[in-house]
Amino acid sequence: MITGEDAVLRLEQVHRSYGTGPEAVHALQGVDVAFARGTFTAVMGPSGSGKSTLLQCGAGLDRPDRGRVVLDGTELGGLTETRLTVLRRERLGFVFQAFNLVGSLTAEQNVGLPLRLAGRRPDRDEVRRALTQVGLGGRAGHLPSQLSGGQQQRVAVARALIARPRVLFADEPTGALDSSSSRDVLALLRSLVDQEGQSTVMVTHDPVAAAHADRVLFLADGRLVGDLAAPTAQQVAELMTGLEAERAA
Ligand code: ADP
Ligand code: MG
Repeated sequence: MITGEDAVLRLEQVHRSYGTGPEAVHALQGVDVAFARGTFTAVMGPSGSGKSTLLQCGAGLDRPDRGRVVLDGTELGGLTETRLTVLRRERLGFVFQAFNLVGSLTAEQNVGLPLRLAGRRPDRDEVRRALTQVGLGGRAGHLPSQLSGGQQQRVAVARALIARPRVLFADEPTGALDSSSSRDVLALLRSLVDQEGQSTVMVTHDPVAAAHADRVLFLADGRLVGDLAAPTAQQVAELMTGLEAERAA
């Protein structure tokens, strides 16, 4: 049981629907979960089960219809759009499946971008340190097109880390990568947790990726239906197969 004290993020009875009336899609239907500080959590579930919506609500990119999201003691629902934007910038990092780097900017410029957007001049050493941390100290001047998919995703991780986020969110960060690049990115996320105590929440389809986490949550139809500690890839795969079968039945 994670108490309020050691949870870096809490969702309390979070509901989120899209549309109204009979056409409405209930993406989250009362999700209650706490994420322990300094740990790595994977979120799994069938396609359309609400994984991305959970991440977006947790990261303040989307607002629940009902329920509360508490990040490090701050209730996101109580913030104005402006304050929420500042909090996202200063306390949260987000990594997407499609990297989302700016193609005309070098690795270094991409990593410094969140600081520029926050009105700060990026400190060169700070940016270089972030690139070194993801194993790309020698690629600072490269454009995204001059980097492999795995390297681009590591630049995206450095960019997410530059503001020293309380929580790093990743939505299928290895979804567009080959297995060798996936391993690099997962090893990087794992080492950030182990060495820097980086609290991390990652959505994935892949049981092998999920097995890098300390804990795996399973969603089905917008509800939490499973919670596994210290998962093995095989345990995760078996639970997923069970969920898919239940859904097909
Ligand atoms: P997952 O990431 O698990 O595949 P999502 O959280 O993206 O699932 O979506 C959950 C459900 O909500 C799906 O049925 C999806 O079609 C629906 N949904 C998500 N975002 C929107 C949106 N912006 N407008 C309408 N429906 C949406
Ligand atoms: Mg998704």
